[in-house]
Amino acid sequence: MEAISYERASDVASAVRAAQQRGTAFIGGGTNLLDLMKGGVARPVRLVDITHIRGLDTIDPLPDGGLRIGALVRNSDAANHTYVRQRYPLLTQALLAGASAQLRNMATVGGNLMQRTRCYYFYDPAFVQCNKREPGSGCAAIDGHTRMHAILGASAQCIAVNPSDMSVALAALDAVVRVSGPRGERTIAFGDFHRLPGDRPDLDTTLQPGELITSVDLPPPMFSDHAHYLKVRDRASYAFALVSVAAALQLDGNTVKSVRIALGGVAHKPWRANVAEQMLAGQTLSDANLQSAAAAALRDARPQRDNAFKVQLAQRSIVRALKQAAGQPGGVA
Ligand code: SF4
Repeated sequence: MEAISYERASDVASAVRAAQQRGTAFIGGGTNLLDLMKGGVARPVRLVDITHIRGLDTIDPLPDGGLRIGALVRNSDAANHTYVRQRYPLLTQALLAGASAQLRNMATVGGNLMQRTRCYYFYDPAFVQCNKREPGSGCAAIDGHTRMHAILGASAQCIAVNPSDMSVALAALDAVVRVSGPRGERTIAFGDFHRLPGDRPDLDTTLQPGELITSVDLPPPMFSDHAHYLKVRDRASYAFALVSVAAALQLDGNTVKSVRIALGGVAHKPWRANVAEQMLAGQTLSDANLQSAAAAALRDARPQRDNAFKVQLAQRSIVRALKQAAGQPGGVA
């Protein structure tokens, strides 16, 4: 058994100070970290409990019309907040698609951003090859069972996917992550927060050592009327996405004024389908336009041995999610 010290932080500054010690981990809801510790995957020497820091557990309007969601807001509270439900329905849908009600009641928004891949080889230290767990050790997944793994943006070092549903919606909504660290406060555009694996798959995010997430800021709502989060998975609840799509539209009749598409379950980070968005802007939501955009979104896909099905599944899911966001009938997945 390894000794772990525990400290309760009273404010952001003391939490950041405490995290200067090597081997320190922040603990909020603990829904992922404790699993990792029990499995011997994470081995912090010190836990800094951030759950008693005041001011990080509220949801507040921003002067520009946006919304600030504190890092300690529970997933269930964020999902069911009246303003989030009404103005950011994409976020509510994505949050409610994740995990179980019990886990959503414990898990925090900041922790959701930090949750680690569910690659089976990462979670089982009996597989010694895992560059994410042990840099330089190899990747057991590449020659293993790859049904759940990445089809976009993978590297020769790691083919894992990000498991968060919430993050897919936040990527589509152009959220901003606020952090506080030894060098002060800064903001990170959501698209820059999670990393592709490259040659450092041990790093999931661009957070610097000792930085603490303090909030997620949403821009003013643009997609209250037309948004849909589609999650395709092996069973109806408590399963991670094979493919998910966050789709949001501003429409003028059947013409697209503005569109956002982000994919989950396909890459090491939430994957914005920028080319598909550009193709659809100013166009009608015809079947032909939707299918061309969906095909373009997956043009760079490089499936693994067991997951070629994800390419077509993602294309069909994009079409279906956009149709559902627009209130159109149909779409297949
Ligand atoms: Fe580890 Fe990534 Fe390979 Fe999974 S895919 S075994 S997380 S290196």
